[in-house]
Amino acid sequence: MARCDRTQKPDCTCFDHVDTWVFDLDNTLYPSSCDLFAQIDQKMTSFVANRLGLEREAARRLQKQLYHRHGTTLAGLMAEHQIAPQQFLDDVHDIDYSPVPRSPDLVKALEKLPGRRIVFTNGSRGHATRTLDRIGASHLFDDIFDITDANFVPKPRAEAFASFFSSHKVDGKTAAMFEDLPQNLGPAHELGMMTVLVHSHMDDHPVYQDIRGWGASPPAHIHHRTDDLPGFLAALTQCGKSG
Ligand SMILES: [Mg+2]
Repeated sequence: MARCDRTQKPDCTCFDHVDTWVFDLDNTLYPSSCDLFAQIDQKMTSFVANRLGLEREAARRLQKQLYHRHGTTLAGLMAEHQIAPQQFLDDVHDIDYSPVPRSPDLVKALEKLPGRRIVFTNGSRGHATRTLDRIGASHLFDDIFDITDANFVPKPRAEAFASFFSSHKVDGKTAAMFEDLPQNLGPAHELGMMTVLVHSHMDDHPVYQDIRGWGASPPAHIHHRTDDLPGFLAALTQCGKSG
């Protein structure tokens, strides 16, 4: 597969071959500025504090350590503290969805993508459905592959991608993946997918400091970058082939 010039400006010829459009959910399909994920983050701290009998500050520290060691807080709680996943997923996604803005531009752009659209999330299906409902895009997705479908193995682990690929019969050579966390695009690139990093503005996350340090030279597994997902997608469908 030809690699296109990496540029902020989308080049639709790079995506001519794509018939499977894979989207992360949190801070990708909605802007991080609406702070929805910040609510989840706070709920995770409360869960850790309550379950493990910790003060909030100690719980916060442990939460972040588990996240860095295991890829998600949930994976860490399951591996190190034998926490059953369902209660965690129910608790941390018991949030107010009203800050998620409706996005007619995103809906319009998604509608025009030729082929399947699938959400691949480390969160839960219920959370993804409620979020997509707020955006106005639920009806545009063929399916949601959530952390339960992945047997609680999160992105970026290879097993998560393997189960996603096998359950949806994804061919990496005809798929594209959109994500706000660059590490989750590593396996996507290895599997032949076209990768697009959707810039988020969660400045407290160390990954975003890394991103700022890239300047104009991102790592090889980041093929494209955008801070305007609706605009990026809309440009891809103006090539004449699709729509
Ligand atoms: Mg995300």
